[in-house]
Amino acid sequence: MYKFDPKVIRVGISGCLVGQKVRFDGGHKRSDFCSEQLAEFVEFVPVCPEMAIGLGSPRPSIRLVNLGEDIIAQTAKGVDVTAALRDYGRNLATQFSGLSGYVLCAKSPSCGMERVRVYHESGKGNAKEGVGIYTQELMQAQPLLPLEEDGRLNDALLRENFVTRVFALHDWQCLCHEGITAAGLITFHSRYKYLLMAHHRESYLQLGKLLADLSVDVAAKADAYIKGLMQALSIIVTRKNHTNVLQHLQGYFKRMLNARQREELSDTITQYRQGILPLFAPITLLRHYLKEFPNEYLQQQVYLNPHPEALRLRYGI
Ligand code: SF4
Repeated sequence: MYKFDPKVIRVGISGCLVGQKVRFDGGHKRSDFCSEQLAEFVEFVPVCPEMAIGLGSPRPSIRLVNLGEDIIAQTAKGVDVTAALRDYGRNLATQFSGLSGYVLCAKSPSCGMERVRVYHESGKGNAKEGVGIYTQELMQAQPLLPLEEDGRLNDALLRENFVTRVFALHDWQCLCHEGITAAGLITFHSRYKYLLMAHHRESYLQLGKLLADLSVDVAAKADAYIKGLMQALSIIVTRKNHTNVLQHLQGYFKRMLNARQREELSDTITQYRQGILPLFAPITLLRHYLKEFPNEYLQQQVYLNPHPEALRLRYGI
């Protein structure tokens, strides 16, 4: 089930976010970004854990309750559904190794990723400190899987970061599908150089050291590599880091561009740094010069094309 297919990027999603009427009130919480834009490029795998354990829709809402030693999920009638949600999540999540990401419904006691309301046992007061029961199992079984919540996807930086991670993990899964080799790992790392440098320069260096000697333990090193890569990519890129990378890339064209072109590129990067232009502007110019003056090393850099252009993810950052 949900086996990896290099031709399809599969992304799990809370069923209510793709318009399924599975919520406790019989409604849905359709995400326009997921249903109208991202769906063009990925195949969603919708799951509603509460429907799956037989709660039906409409149903009494459930909530997380802090019992001191444990946090449980309880229906409004006091029925404890924690074990059912956990068992379902644990069983299903082991079948998710073919997924490349997961979009979760925020605030849900089953699907929420963070800051889910946890009520005190007494019924008085609550704290936004919980994680949905189903999602806890998902996180444990698939620690590499990029996760994001629907509400957070409205933030341009978080949205771009999530989609970047989904495409990067899928890229990695394709490499694994072909069979990991020392040469394949080195090429992969070299393609991710500038993307990694933008997210976290130290990780780029550390991961390079990890791959320095691949004469033994290639499989173990590959495991450590993808862990480090996904961790680094989860760090949001600052304008300063993007600027550093853009200036590095600018250096490749120094000798090919005439004075006017050099000035244009330099001004565009400066205006990006100052927040006047979006990232899309200097990237487009670099790609334009790359077409004019092909450079094999730069052409394979994921940084210049981390996700489909049509998603317009670099227009707003
Ligand atoms: S948040 Fe999760 S459990 Fe709740 S309706 Fe959506 S998919 Fe179902």
